Amino acid sequence: MSADALASARILVTNDDGIGAPGIRVLEKIARGLSRDVWVVAPETQQSAVSHSLTIRRPLRLSTLGPKRFAVDGTPTDCVLIGVHEVLKGRAPDLVLSGINMGANLGEDIGYSGTVAAAMEACLLGLRAVAFSLDLPRNGTVPKQPRWETCAHFAPRIIRTLAGLSWPEATLMNVNVPDLAVEAVTGIRVAHQGRRKDGLRLEKRADPEGRPYWWILDYTKEEVQPRGSDLSAINAGAIAVTPVTIDVTAKGFLPDLVAAFA
Ligand code: MN
Repeated sequence: MSADALASARILVTNDDGIGAPGIRVLEKIARGLSRDVWVVAPETQQSAVSHSLTIRRPLRLSTLGPKRFAVDGTPTDCVLIGVHEVLKGRAPDLVLSGINMGANLGEDIGYSGTVAAAMEACLLGLRAVAFSLDLPRNGTVPKQPRWETCAHFAPRIIRTLAGLSWPEATLMNVNVPDLAVEAVTGIRVAHQGRRKDGLRLEKRADPEGRPYWWILDYTKEEVQPRGSDLSAINAGAIAVTPVTIDVTAKGFLPDLVAAFA
């Protein structure tokens, strides 16, 4: 897709933080800077960490919030399905953008992320999709002013570059932006999916009536990452661009398994 083609491309914007989240406003603005035909179909409510969930046991409702702006009372995956098959049924989007997520989606986050899952669903529909996430300070607090301006600065160039390539089949792009000012970003690195050594933490607490409850917390610490991973790129102050495929087969193990079952 050339720059000219991008200007008339149909772009669908969605997210997992919900249609009222600040990140989707930023992504919508970025998309409008690239194309005249931008549509938003996003979840009514916060859907972080719902992964690739589908709503299949109750009706899904679509609300019109304004011109080319819709909310679905479901998951990011539901939004992509309703966006493509209903809202944009006359002409499929040329590009689906998901985010900008409040918080990074690095390493094993990809498996939990609703932001990435929306891009995955678009990918399954044969569409090109890019997930955008913004890293937050590592002290666990959500800042009053996340660095959306850093995303707004770099995203158009990233989208143009990606749109200009021919993509392999069943591949989506996962983009993570560091928690840094524009001038402090050290570059754009193509990275593979990293992996933290420690899993998520689980904390047992007591409610005001003394009954136990559990709260899932973030990773204990950031291990030193091998070079080339999304985590090491972000830790080095760079934007990480990771191509992600739908096929999760452990291909390296296939020959041993084939031999074992022969
Ligand atoms: Mn989220």
